[in-house]
Amino acid sequence: MEAAQVGIFVLQDLRFKYVNPFLTRLFGFTEADMLERMGPLDLVAPEEHAFVIEQMHARSNGEMGHQYEITALRKDGTVFPAMVFGAPSIYDGRPASVGTLLDISSQKVAEQRIRELADYDVLTGLPNRRLLRERFIQLLAAAERERSEIAVVFLDLDHFKRVNDSLGHSVGDELLCEVARRLDSVVRRIDTLARLGGDEFIFAMPGFHAAAATEVARRLIDVFSRPFEIAGHELTITASLGIGIYPHDGLDLETLLKNADTAMYRAKEIGRNTFQFYSSEMNTATLDRLLMESNLRRALAQNEFILQYQPLVNLETGIVIGVEALIRWQHPDLGMIMPDRFIHVAEETGLINPIGDWVLCEACRQAKAWCDEGLPPIVMAVNVAPVQFRQPGFVEMVAGALASSGLEPGLLELELTERTVMHDADINLGTLSALHRMGVELSLDDFGTGYSSLAYLKRFPVGKLKIDRSFVNDLETDPDDWAIASTIVSMGKSLRMTVLAEGVETAEQLAQLRKMGCNMAQGYLFSRPTSPAGIAEILRLQPFVNRS
Ligand code: C2E
Ligand code: MG
Ligand code: MG
Repeated sequence: MEAAQVGIFVLQDLRFKYVNPFLTRLFGFTEADMLERMGPLDLVAPEEHAFVIEQMHARSNGEMGHQYEITALRKDGTVFPAMVFGAPSIYDGRPASVGTLLDISSQKVAEQRIRELADYDVLTGLPNRRLLRERFIQLLAAAERERSEIAVVFLDLDHFKRVNDSLGHSVGDELLCEVARRLDSVVRRIDTLARLGGDEFIFAMPGFHAAAATEVARRLIDVFSRPFEIAGHELTITASLGIGIYPHDGLDLETLLKNADTAMYRAKEIGRNTFQFYSSEMNTATLDRLLMESNLRRALAQNEFILQYQPLVNLETGIVIGVEALIRWQHPDLGMIMPDRFIHVAEETGLINPIGDWVLCEACRQAKAWCDEGLPPIVMAVNVAPVQFRQPGFVEMVAGALASSGLEPGLLELELTERTVMHDADINLGTLSALHRMGVELSLDDFGTGYSSLAYLKRFPVGKLKIDRSFVNDLETDPDDWAIASTIVSMGKSLRMTVLAEGVETAEQLAQLRKMGCNMAQGYLFSRPTSPAGIAEILRLQPFVNRS
């Protein structure tokens, strides 16, 4: 034991009775320090004390020891991983335990290295194909759950072979390392950058639709705008990129990689130092989108948005008891652009948040202005996009719009779609309740086109259902639409909600809806969306009141 190249000790009553020279040397103590004075807990990192105490109990109950790992603590406070093996024994005629302790630092380093070799590219330290595949499986699961997209970018250096051929492989290797470092600094933490070998790099980026992927592709190409300083050489190199989007261009990594690779070759064909999408329509669509996106930003800055208002009519009395605010884009060259053309781009790019904030403030201001003119108070209904509703601070934003306009909360109604509120219904319940507590009214827009859980419908503080225009459209001719509309009306009644029919265009539709017992309506039959002055006029004249 004196000569053994492992630590050996005897333990009794929680004190060391014997320690061999290897053990004292390992921890930096003397034999005199340890014998009778110290116990195992003095040699172990504090966070593992509970575990070690448990082990000692087991040993003193005569249970045979297992080997276990601890974080060993030296006299100078440094730590190292150790493997301990204890066994019950007898010392001086009384129960004791005998243990051996092994420093396993070098095994640990080797294990780590093996893990790295298996998952990481040796040259650049980036994840390799194996780890990429593993991470991609997780991304896929999340994307499926959230119905979101993933961009897979295939990046290949242009003419890399020339570097290798003219300057040698070691310069080529160094260049690859430097490229990897630069690329790595561009991506987000949740993105995976991998090297497939050679001069091929892959990015897997969750939550990316085509327009956002375009931005990233630009930044990646930008990485190569500065020359690389390698071994005294100033090297200029460019890259070609191909982009595949899940689920559009493939449902698994292999297909997406293959298609991104095809797109990358197309980028090489059209002159290198550029990127291409796999789907050709995406190449043009993203251009339109990018144009649209920068135009939308400008529109917001230059006040090109306006609101029009459409009356909401009580069917029993014919009185206008509210209006819905509808956004329009007054483009200096193109004229009036309707929301169906730009709202989805605004949603995808996140611009919907500032735009939606503006709509809310402007609608509240206008509603208050009508009140101040002495017009009868009416409800102001404002559409809220899903992204906007889910952004943190939305409730505070609504409170702010009410406070700065001075509008009574009860006169504001937020229109949400089923898609917005039923997605993560439990989380949304909190936001809905907070809005409800403020006194704000809530309605479900385009009702019937999404899917609603009736259980949630009952729990949500929603006061109004708006039957989607598509059912009202063919009310007279399509018995199915008639059935759906009348079902929504009677369901709304049972749940004590107000039911409003959208898009009423004909007197016949109106008559049918009245017969069903629908409470309210909105549509061209009464009025198209119109200017604030037009609404003031309608509120004064109340032209739809049932004279009978
Ligand atoms: P929505 O909320 O369902 O609004 C009703 C749409 O139906 C409006 O279209 C309105 O002009 C149209 N409409 C009303 N009555 C009739 C009718 O009798 N016949 C026909 N054919 N159509 C009628 P608009 O203004 O083009 O808005 C379209 C959609 O854009 C809105 O649907 C809403 O989802 C969205 N939107 C409008 N303004 C905003 C806004 O400020 N924020 C957000 N997030 N979305 C908005
Ligand atoms: Mg609406
Ligand atoms: Mg609607």
